[in-house]
Amino acid sequence: MTVTTWAEAAEKVLPLLQAEAARTDAQAAFPEAGLQALRESGLLGLLVPEEYGGMGGDLTDLVDAAGLLAGGCLSTAMIWAMHCQQSDAVVRFASPELKSWLLPRIARGEVYLASVTTEPGKGGHLLTGKAPLQHEEGLLTLRRDAPVITGGRHADGFLITMRASPEAADNQVSLVYADREQLELVERGEWDTLGMRGTESLGFTISGSVPAFQTVGEAGEFQRIAVESMAAVGHLAWAACWLGAGRAALQGLVGLVRSADRPGSIDVRSELVNERLARIRMDLELVSAYLRRVLDEVTQLRASGQSLVQTPVQIHLNTLKVTAAELTFQAVDRMVQLAGLRFGYHRQSPLPLERTLRDLRSASLNYANDRLLVANGALTLMDRSVRLA
Ligand SMILES: Cc1cc2nc3c(=O)[nH]c(=O)nc-3n(C[C@H](O)[C@H](O)[C@H](O)COP(=O)(O)OP(=O)(O)OC[C@H]3O[C@@H](n4cnc5c(N)ncnc54)[C@H](O)[C@@H]3O)c2cc1C
Repeated sequence: MTVTTWAEAAEKVLPLLQAEAARTDAQAAFPEAGLQALRESGLLGLLVPEEYGGMGGDLTDLVDAAGLLAGGCLSTAMIWAMHCQQSDAVVRFASPELKSWLLPRIARGEVYLASVTTEPGKGGHLLTGKAPLQHEEGLLTLRRDAPVITGGRHADGFLITMRASPEAADNQVSLVYADREQLELVERGEWDTLGMRGTESLGFTISGSVPAFQTVGEAGEFQRIAVESMAAVGHLAWAACWLGAGRAALQGLVGLVRSADRPGSIDVRSELVNERLARIRMDLELVSAYLRRVLDEVTQLRASGQSLVQTPVQIHLNTLKVTAAELTFQAVDRMVQLAGLRFGYHRQSPLPLERTLRDLRSASLNYANDRLLVANGALTLMDRSVRLA
């Protein structure tokens, strides 16, 4: 059967993601079979326009597919969502030369993109860079430490933020694309974390040279890409992943509570049990509704060619990320409490609640919520109209 839509493709890879999730978590191993299935499904090219051989999907497709895949394995879904986040930046900001070289390969599943923004000395701060790009005879030479690269061992291409030149200020950042073959990657440290273990987000030292046309967007102007693409698409796609994992966890819990196998301690006629179920559902409902609202806002602005730089829009996108991180984790924490020791907390439970809890604990760290809250406080003072979502 030829797979033609993202929904068919996602439904087809989902059972494999589900089957692989426990092992990748236990071994902190990258989901290689899952990525291979995603390559073959065409989903790496979800956001690649059809003229380049991609699926030509939009942000609604991205959010829906991310939610579905995350119900199978949150690590794999985030790997894929971050790839799509990078591919959106290429689609919207790369030169025609770079697009025609790179996008057909992404669409064919040959190029899985990794993201390199975190750097020692600046932590997660997205809009600054420390290591400078060197410009030598039409080539851009880069050398930089990258303490966290999801899928760094397996990626075929890398989008890397660099200070634009040795003379440039920290906030003059360029985004550079490099094929794996153009780089030397030296692995540093290990990825032995509480959750998101399947993302295998190892540290590397990166060096290499690329032709100047591999700069994405204008030199030194990464901030525009971050605002219009990378941060916005990231917050939407990550929130969708976290919500998808929370929703799948609740589906499992509801199935258990309705079955004859339910723990004897859960009395479905108990008002306490019902109140707890209601609060879990409310957490997920609120994230779902806010995600859809912000998705609509971004989609409409993009469709009418308007910038996302407006203060209220930035507040909404940051609120989405922080709220989704907090409420999906809280919902799964509540599910663990309700399911109890054997079904909620035990690693051998038929419901993977403890894994989902550990995975979702990363959500408030994966671009620190604190940073976004500090930014949103300052932005709030700039929006006298208080334009709510
Ligand atoms: C699963 C996962 C996958 C990741 N994948 C990638 C990847 O592929 N590529 C990549 O480049 N990075 C990746 N990261 C890194 C991530 O995006 C963040 O950049 C990183 O987690 C930030 O690291 P940090 O918390 O040490 O640093 P920081 O964000 O610098 O934060 C350090 C501490 O300071 C606090 N803090 C920071 N700024 C402020 C502020 N302004 N006000 C108050 N408190 C503040 C934070 O809350 C935190 O407690 C990944 C992270 C995770 C968890």
